[in-house]
Amino acid sequence: MSGALHDLGVAALAARLKAREVSAVEAAQHFLARSRAHQALGAYLAEDEAVTLAQAAAADARLAAGDTAPLLGVPIAHKDIFVTKDFPSTAGSKMLAGYRSPFDATVVRQLAEAGMVSLGKLNCDEFAMGSSNENSAFQPAKNPWDATRVPGGSSGGSAVAVAAGLAPAATGTDTGGSIRQPSSFCGITGIKPTYGRASRYGMIAFASSLDQAGPMARSAQDCALLLSAICGPDPDRDSTSLDVPAEDFSRGLGDSLQGLRIGVPKEFFGEGLAADVRAVIDAALAEYVKQGATLVPISLPRTELAIPVYYIIAPAEASSNLSRFDGVKFGHRAAQHGDLLDMYKKTRAEGFGDEVKRRIMIGAYVLSHGYYDAYYLQAQKIRRMIADDFQQAFKTCDVIAGPVAPTVAWHLGDHGNDPLADYLADIFTLPASLAGLPGMSVPAGFGEGGMPVGLQLIGNYFSEAKLLNAAHRFQQATDFHLRRPAGY
Ligand code: GLN
Repeated sequence: MSGALHDLGVAALAARLKAREVSAVEAAQHFLARSRAHQALGAYLAEDEAVTLAQAAAADARLAAGDTAPLLGVPIAHKDIFVTKDFPSTAGSKMLAGYRSPFDATVVRQLAEAGMVSLGKLNCDEFAMGSSNENSAFQPAKNPWDATRVPGGSSGGSAVAVAAGLAPAATGTDTGGSIRQPSSFCGITGIKPTYGRASRYGMIAFASSLDQAGPMARSAQDCALLLSAICGPDPDRDSTSLDVPAEDFSRGLGDSLQGLRIGVPKEFFGEGLAADVRAVIDAALAEYVKQGATLVPISLPRTELAIPVYYIIAPAEASSNLSRFDGVKFGHRAAQHGDLLDMYKKTRAEGFGDEVKRRIMIGAYVLSHGYYDAYYLQAQKIRRMIADDFQQAFKTCDVIAGPVAPTVAWHLGDHGNDPLADYLADIFTLPASLAGLPGMSVPAGFGEGGMPVGLQLIGNYFSEAKLLNAAHRFQQATDFHLRRPAGY
């Protein structure tokens, strides 16, 4: 591995900054230049050199004063779902084109206070609805491993930026897999913590009972550093944030895996799983056995039901959350309109893309009188059963392992007019989301076309440290997380 700044990762870069071998301004300039050189990947939606360099200069001043904060001076870029006062915030939607928030999302603020330097805002599917980043209203993002393929979604720009070395780390959000699946497709490490561990304040809402923020970076070690900075209660601003103090997730890294019981759900290895992905996952499980873990066959019998359940509950919540985009409070307003109702209609028809409209319609339908009991209420009941299935499984295992997605990244345009093809590909990430459990994606090898494959690790509530350690041990024995796409 060369010593170039973009090959270092968060922990190593922080060490260089602390040793004053490189300044925060130099590091920021390096990544801004790389982003300019690789604009064709479509990773960024907003950058502002003056803002970034001012933050870097402030970090340099703290470093010069002997401040030893672990993330001080390290650059990061944010998914454009997080609102930021220094950059526009669009959620990948025309509805919010050019919108400036008067405040920073809690996660953004926490990372800024930790001294991280913001490189800008990253592309994503519109309002985080999608699995390929093709639902971005602005531009598709491209997978650096093969620019004819999707990077995954909805945090596609985040995964592209990290995989191509345009940022050492990024924030993402995961409602039904949007941190784990793009991490898998782009060969990076990402973790979605337990629902409620990181504040949702300032995350533009999609499905509030599922939305959760998390870090995306090269390694589990880097994710541990970042996660330590963004967890913790935010009682005044997010009533669903949990009263569980922040943790130092780096502390347990390196613990032996001797005796770790890894549950292997048979439903994750059925017909739908591509053979190339299966081979990679099997090899990863064998590595864990080599390290002293034991594999325990388990069952998550309602895995298939996670798809219809999620695609009822998430649109239901979205239809309610997105009612705020009415042309009055903020964002787009139709230039030509008649009365107030006509203004609402034209504004929303112009501002939202097809997938968002589809979800608003499905959501309004399943919540409507006469269908609420048949769809929404049933879905809520099965959601609870899915959560119970996990608790049953955790009686016999410590963590659960399987694929993140049934295939490697598909080609741009492949799912064209077939939203169901996207929905079905979410099958392995949705169950943990519905249960509110932490989950992560760990680079585990390469499949068809030389595309990366991620191993998914799912833990019980608040077991992030255990997951990160399991990933870290795997990364000490393998180098998949260090491989780089050719040309980056
Ligand atoms: N692909 C899923 C969806 O389209 C999940 C998206 C997400 O996690 N934000 O809803």
